[in-house]
Amino acid sequence: MDRSNVENALVQVLENFQRCGITRFGSLPAGEVPAETLAAVSQLTTTTANPKPASASPNVARRSAAVSELAATTPEAAAVSATQATGATNGLRASDRLPSNGLGAEPWSLPVLSLEQRQTRFDELSGQVRNCRLCSSIVSYRQQTVFGAGPLNPRVCFMGEAPGADEDRTGLPFVGKAGQLLTKIITAMQLSRDEVYILNALKCRPPQNRTPMNEEIDHCRHFVESQLDTLRPEFIVCLGAVAVRCILRSELPIGRLRGQFYQYRGARVVVTYHPSYLLRNESAKKHVWEDMKMLMAELGS
Ligand code: SF4
Repeated sequence: MDRSNVENALVQVLENFQRCGITRFGSLPAGEVPAETLAAVSQLTTTTANPKPASASPNVARRSAAVSELAATTPEAAAVSATQATGATNGLRASDRLPSNGLGAEPWSLPVLSLEQRQTRFDELSGQVRNCRLCSSIVSYRQQTVFGAGPLNPRVCFMGEAPGADEDRTGLPFVGKAGQLLTKIITAMQLSRDEVYILNALKCRPPQNRTPMNEEIDHCRHFVESQLDTLRPEFIVCLGAVAVRCILRSELPIGRLRGQFYQYRGARVVVTYHPSYLLRNESAKKHVWEDMKMLMAELGS
């Protein structure tokens, strides 16, 4: 067996271990495995070092209704196993792969912080966001900033585009119609909103809900990166093209990117459609459900 075959076999064994819930790989044969493979092994095992049990939400009926709503438009999705979905490539050619931004190979830029330290950091960061006036065409229009919401030790972060009118009014992310649909998706995943962190690529509502400009995404990115560095989620779900532009710095359409995992620092990234797109395109729900099932398989749900 040549060297690359050894690497592939090793990674496959690790993935099988992960599926079986085994979180440690033991000692690796020194000298036989290249350093880069050891790094990959370390990263794989780290992402499952502290698996949380599946949510024990009592509202089974609500969850089942949410699944039905998603699956009702997705007869074929129900037949697609999460394992099959994991291997989907959507016809991506090698030249279409995400541009290398160097972040995929980098670890989180902060050490692991205690919950108290995370809260302190978020208090500082949200204060900076409230005072930020970098986007001149936005600041005079916003009512307030929308920092994000959720626990400080989430396994999953959902990231959207920017606040809408309801979010601008309440200061909370995803509380309008699209937010209600996101809640259904999260419920169908056997999670609750209390278990995931929700944020946007932009912290302020653009005028007339227009699509954020690249310059505005660039302005706000350091806030997003600081939030993620503090939270260190295992998974980030990019909801729509703006989240993808912020995190993965890719302009490729969602249809070309979804169906596989990407890497952002210590987290694995899932790309799918924004809930507001689903409100206009019911048929896309089946794709979102496939993407969420792919994630659920990794979460052990
Ligand atoms: S969108 Fe972000 S960068 Fe722009 S003004 Fe608001 S907080 Fe600042």
